[in-house]
Amino acid sequence: MVTRIGVLRLLMAVVLIGALTWAWADSFALRVVQSGDSIGSIANRYGVGVTSVLQANGLNGTLIQPGDVLRVPLGDATGGIVLAAPEPPPGFRRHVLAAGETLSEIVSRYGISLAALVGANPDLSSLDRLPIGVELLIPPGDGLVVVLDDPSALGALLLAYDVDPVAVARANTLRSPFDLRPGMLLFLPGVEPTMALERLARVREAENRYVWPVHGRLTSYFGRRNLGMGTAAFHRGIDVAAPTGTPIVAARSGTVTYAGWSARGYGNLVRIRHAGGAETWYAHASRILVSVGQYVAQGERIALVGSTGLSTGPHLHFELHVGGSAIDPLSELR
Ligand SMILES: [Zn+2]
Repeated sequence: MVTRIGVLRLLMAVVLIGALTWAWADSFALRVVQSGDSIGSIANRYGVGVTSVLQANGLNGTLIQPGDVLRVPLGDATGGIVLAAPEPPPGFRRHVLAAGETLSEIVSRYGISLAALVGANPDLSSLDRLPIGVELLIPPGDGLVVVLDDPSALGALLLAYDVDPVAVARANTLRSPFDLRPGMLLFLPGVEPTMALERLARVREAENRYVWPVHGRLTSYFGRRNLGMGTAAFHRGIDVAAPTGTPIVAARSGTVTYAGWSARGYGNLVRIRHAGGAETWYAHASRILVSVGQYVAQGERIALVGSTGLSTGPHLHFELHVGGSAIDPLSELR
């Protein structure tokens, strides 16, 4: 008896194992290493040699770990009976990422959503830092591309994704069960690529550790600053000038540990604790929009720029504390 959870697990594995690949000189597929993968099995699957996979990734040995992202050079594919190079579903186009191109440019050019692009390329390694030359499938609309490893499991697959068989048949121009082939790419229209989006959100957060809490003119740097008359003080953060009322966003997701008036010159202060123990401080706010204990996502509004406390004009004083002491935020901001 296969439970619904069991089927879902199986499907997750199918989706994760699914790698999108097709022969195209000088381009490559990205493959997220799954448990059980080896360099040999990946090379086999794409019909390329172990040596060319090693070379393309600058590897000396064959030790890989789940979660590693490997480049598989498609130009070296020999074709043949391997599972490599399944045709994309009907209506799909291909796009080779050029230097300086971003995914947001690509989705607006093709008139699709970012979720649709992710659904067509669930093995994407990043939304922001893709290597030049990687091939993307451009879908005709929202949906998820999966690899149909076992055609007899199609019924269970459709059930698990709660997708209409007629719509799937139409989207993939399937006229009979004989049109199904093991290893073929199947487009499930309307299915949200939830797992891939969640994984890419985690990747994005790891890549862009801290984002600017407010955009404006940097008026004071971290470190010693001269106060004139022979006195100097240590500035524990950076100052960014912006008009009163400008939204301040969380530089990184975390839990609010302080939200209120500070007697130490910070005025209205918000402090957020992040995974790993680092803290960000946001001072001189005209208004605070969060409360202690609240979880905030990266980029979420937490306060408005002001000039409360020891301040000579509207600005954000921003501090980053790592291991209990303030460090220069400019080294971490993206
Ligand atoms: Zn300051």
